[in-house]
Amino acid sequence: MAQLIDGKQLSDQVLQEVASEVELLRAEHDIVPTLAVVLVGEDPASQVYVRNKVKRAEEAGMCSIAHRLDAECTQDVLNKLIDHLNNDPKVHGILVQLPLPSHLNDEEVIASIHPAKDVDGFHPLNVGALASGRPSLVPCTPQGCMIMLSQVHPDLSGKNVVVVGRSNIVGKPMAALLLQANCTVTIAHSRTQNIEALCLNADIVVAAVGRAEFINADWIKPGATVIDVGINAIDVDGKRKLVGDVDFESVARIAGAITPVPGGVGPMTIACLLLNTTRAAKHQLA
Ligand code: NAP
Repeated sequence: MAQLIDGKQLSDQVLQEVASEVELLRAEHDIVPTLAVVLVGEDPASQVYVRNKVKRAEEAGMCSIAHRLDAECTQDVLNKLIDHLNNDPKVHGILVQLPLPSHLNDEEVIASIHPAKDVDGFHPLNVGALASGRPSLVPCTPQGCMIMLSQVHPDLSGKNVVVVGRSNIVGKPMAALLLQANCTVTIAHSRTQNIEALCLNADIVVAAVGRAEFINADWIKPGATVIDVGINAIDVDGKRKLVGDVDFESVARIAGAITPVPGGVGPMTIACLLLNTTRAAKHQLA
């Protein structure tokens, strides 16, 4: 069986480091790193994500403020809230929970967050910095995946990696980080031909597709490392179950190392969000 890369355990380590940094900032600079989370509407999954982020932030000794707006709120109201948070010196990180209701413009909202407070790393300036190899605030999920990979591959140089998925929040920044670590990176997507053959040739496969158990053992080279970003709710015998984009049962028998779902990339994403908030607070000191 493959080695399990335990995201829960690893995220606890990262959160301990965050808590130490928070303590240092409090003791030396009288600062409490503060994360503002903006939630628009009542989407149940988003409400759970926001609750978890606020809870984890408080556990790490940080301050976290959730701003909840009605699903019908206007772009103008949202812009004014972001503007207020941008100008509040007590707020170090701003996260707007996506997706937003369809009448609101995600891109406009992301671009309105001050780049120094953009703890999701989605602002065009931060995206450009990552693409040009000068990252400041790096998107949390790919950052968490890199920490997980470092447990198995202290040196990623020369590894052949396939990233399945090319979203702005996972696939593209993941590929940029892997390239920076001197991997040879292929990005696969819905139009890619012979995707199984590409994956079968990879030392590392990162799955960020959004399709339950899409990648099975036939796609994986024996001994390869598999990072499963997917979170999909499926129905099993009338019960809701969370599964990844990888068929864990079959792939764990052939891979060298694999992340579970749940308890894999998910907890690492939150830990990296808090890491980014602490980094943002430190940078804003200067
Ligand atoms: P997304 O925006 O929907 O992107 C999915 C990507 O998969 C797209 O690039 C799409 O290709 C590609 N794709 C779809 N069907 C495909 C197919 N049949 N063959 C090859 N590629 C295909 O999703 P996302 O936001 O990146 O999220 C991906 C998954 O990760 C979801 O399950 C999401 O819930 C999960 N997620 C987890 C975390 C976490 O913290 N663990 C964080 C973020 C996301 P095209 O571009 O060609 O359409």
